[in-house]
Amino acid sequence: MPWCDECSRFLTPNSMGEGGECPGCGRVLAGGGGSGVDGEAVDEPHVPWHFKLLVLATIVYLAYRAVQGVVWLAGRI
Ligand SMILES: [Zn+2]
Repeated sequence: MPWCDECSRFLTPNSMGEGGECPGCGRVLAGGGGSGVDGEAVDEPHVPWHFKLLVLATIVYLAYRAVQGVVWLAGRI
């Protein structure tokens, strides 16, 4: 998230101007305006594909273990 030294506050990409400048003092900050100048703070909601794969694998594994548990319970009754 970009930081403005002049105004001493954090700025979201949406609160900055078209060129990535601070609305308070007009100073141009790196990575602003959603244009991907810096790349670091702009695409923060981006989730890497291997994280999605990990979550999917965890769900599949837990579902498999749940089925196993039900089968185990049914065998004991
Ligand atoms: Zn400012």
